[in-house]
Amino acid sequence: MRLADLHCHTTASDGTLTPAELVRLASEIGLAAVGVTDHDSVDGIAAAQAEGRRLGVEVIPGLELNTDYEGSEIHILGYYMNLGSRQLQLGLANLRDARNLRVKLIVEKLAQIGLKVDLCRIMEIASDGAVGRPHVAQAMIEKGYVSSIKQAFDQYIGTGCPAYVSRYKLTPQQGIGLIRQANGVAVLAHPGLVRRDDLIKCFIDAGLNGIEVYHTSHTPAYEKRYAELAERLGLLLTGGSDFHGPGRKEGISLGDRTVSLETVRKLTKLHEEMEKWQEHSQNRPND
Ligand code: AMP
Ligand code: ZN
Ligand code: FE
Ligand code: FE
Repeated sequence: MRLADLHCHTTASDGTLTPAELVRLASEIGLAAVGVTDHDSVDGIAAAQAEGRRLGVEVIPGLELNTDYEGSEIHILGYYMNLGSRQLQLGLANLRDARNLRVKLIVEKLAQIGLKVDLCRIMEIASDGAVGRPHVAQAMIEKGYVSSIKQAFDQYIGTGCPAYVSRYKLTPQQGIGLIRQANGVAVLAHPGLVRRDDLIKCFIDAGLNGIEVYHTSHTPAYEKRYAELAERLGLLLTGGSDFHGPGRKEGISLGDRTVSLETVRKLTKLHEEMEKWQEHSQNRPND
């Protein structure tokens, strides 16, 4: 069966492979398609698609928004957004600014507890990508303050730790709206990690189209549960590994969770229907 891994990160956010490297790896392991879903960024998509055309790997353009619902961190995946959408670009620019400010505040908090980490070095590690705590952790490892990313989160920068700083986040409904207004397909990421199934109906009202049923954090029991839930609610089923490249999220490899190309076509078809519907409503005379 030809398979697709629909949840991967690159250097456009906190992954360690460039978009082209990710696609080359997908080609090497025989994936038919790969979804590029960077945090708050669509900047890796063009390079991934160019490499995909060269190697015959289908690149599904995507994005992952980390949103907040009353303290629960809810991740929303988007696929096939119109990248030219002004609202999407503005929304992502705001999130990017919030990330930059947050990292600056984290560096200040670290300094207060005697850990001097250079902001410029963190930005350099993030290169042009959306900067995040994994980049801060990397800089802390370089300075010898911690020996792993996990230790940095557990002791210093994770929720409730001395250098934790919260970040401006959209609500899940705003995130879904941002994706949908750009004619993207909105999918609830790894619901098994968050366990807020009570909110799914409300997300559907906001425009949710699918659930990420298959994810490396999901047990077989969760996969069964969310597959049934998606079927019952008439939502699309998606899946992916959440691969971040070597050196990030140890133990997760590209292709660890996949869906069939048939599943991908359902996503594509829904997006095409959204585009047609939009054209139709734009062409309709005002009455
Ligand atoms: P940020 O986007 O700055 O909030 O950082 C969140 C990212 O850090 C997540 O997407 C994960 O990739 C990573 N992360 C979160 N918690 C941990 C942890 N305990 N250990 C390692 N990585 C983590
Ligand atoms: Zn990440
Ligand atoms: Fe996530
Ligand atoms: Fe992810």
